Amino acid sequence: RPVSRVAVLGATGSIGVATLDVIENLNRCDPELAWEVSSVSGHSQIESLIQLADGCQTAPHSVVVSNAENEPQAAQALKTAAAQPDSRLTERCLLDVGPDALVRAATAKDVDVVVAAIVGRAGLESTLAAVHAGKRVALANKETLVVAGPVVTQAAADNGAELLPIDSEHSAIFQCLAESRARQSHSTMLASSPNSTPGSAASDQAQSLNSSATPSWPGVRRLILTASGGPFRDWTTAQMREATIDQALAHPTWKMGAKITIDSASMMNKALEVIEAKWLFNVPADKIEVVVHPQSLIHSLVEFEDGSLIAQVSPPDMRMPIQYALTYPRRLPCPAPALDRSQSWDMTLCPADPERFPALALGFEVARVGGTAGAVVNAANETAVDLFLKRQIRFTDIPEICRRTLLDHNHESSPTLQRLLKLDVWARDRARELAQI
Ligand code: NDP
Ligand code: MG
Repeated sequence: RPVSRVAVLGATGSIGVATLDVIENLNRCDPELAWEVSSVSGHSQIESLIQLADGCQTAPHSVVVSNAENEPQAAQALKTAAAQPDSRLTERCLLDVGPDALVRAATAKDVDVVVAAIVGRAGLESTLAAVHAGKRVALANKETLVVAGPVVTQAAADNGAELLPIDSEHSAIFQCLAESRARQSHSTMLASSPNSTPGSAASDQAQSLNSSATPSWPGVRRLILTASGGPFRDWTTAQMREATIDQALAHPTWKMGAKITIDSASMMNKALEVIEAKWLFNVPADKIEVVVHPQSLIHSLVEFEDGSLIAQVSPPDMRMPIQYALTYPRRLPCPAPALDRSQSWDMTLCPADPERFPALALGFEVARVGGTAGAVVNAANETAVDLFLKRQIRFTDIPEICRRTLLDHNHESSPTLQRLLKLDVWARDRARELAQI
């Protein structure tokens, strides 16, 4: 079988570990391709990084430690693991360190797919490098699109890279569009469409998506993102003001990394996803809607012009969207469990409440104005979440700090990447100042 080689960036995280499980399963059940992990990266969890590398069926070519300070510990751990008689790690497994090592792993010639599963703005350079190298990018790191959506999608179009969503809502929308347009070329559905040549039906369609004056996807009225509502779905603002870290980290349906779990509690995660959807599917903010769906079974919906809704439904398990991004357009058996139809199940949908969750309104506003707003709100949010986790601010301060940081910046509509990265630094400082007031 031909081999598909995957670089897993952020392998030690929740998405990274799930990805390695998916790859192991694909190796058993994919009749067409063999799957190999070409590299794994971790930042602080060095022992578990080496264990994960050792657990791969074929030893990865490189183990990347993005935090260079951890190099000595990683070198020692790798040596010890490789010396075990049953270890698959050989002396040829290279240890590469520092942020540039992520870029080398993402752009290595023999890599076919890059799984971008680093959390936050720290994932931007490697994701963008993979896009520039024309790879298939299975994108979990939504912050990259929030910070630099136009830069990333343009680079994908220019370099023939495929940006396939791992985020469950965006995967769901992608699947709804794919299944409802099964006869059309699938690759024309995303903003990064490498196949849309000028004058083709696909490119006309892509252009109309960009303009709020013309209807979006022909026949598509709205993209509807579902939100679980998080642990504070029914809490009052006064209750949320007193929320503890443990309460905010207790997500009712998903088990995820700390940052995205706090984002889910504040609904900033949904705000970031509105912005992500805008760039990924090339639709204006007013064509995106959010509904609350506590059971996390419906991962999102597409509404068509005749009022019909198409939804994607599966139990909340990230291995499903991860696998779809790896094997698209093929569907193969997945280690995630199917919905148990021997039990009755509820699927409730209700409107979101932007009054109690002000982050949501902020997300729509940022998606509407674009430009520098995404980079600023993302940096302010990363800073505020960090401060909350260090017990330095209240839970309800998070959206307020984001709002005020946004208000304090001079908006530009077509910033360069350099400008966005400068603003990221500025917004972190500003958010820290605001937290002290
Ligand atoms: P985790 O916190 O579980 O994992 C984050 C990963 O990023 C780890 O491998 C971590 O390394 C690495 N990392 C952290 N900081 C840095 C840094 N400065 N430089 C390089 N690498 C770093 O996060 P998740 O897996 O939950 O989320 C990853 C991304 O996927 C996020 O963007 C999130 O929004 C998105 N996502 C996650 C979902 C989920 O179910 N978890 C669902 C949808 C989207 P280490 O642990 O070794 O320090
Ligand atoms: Mg999501």
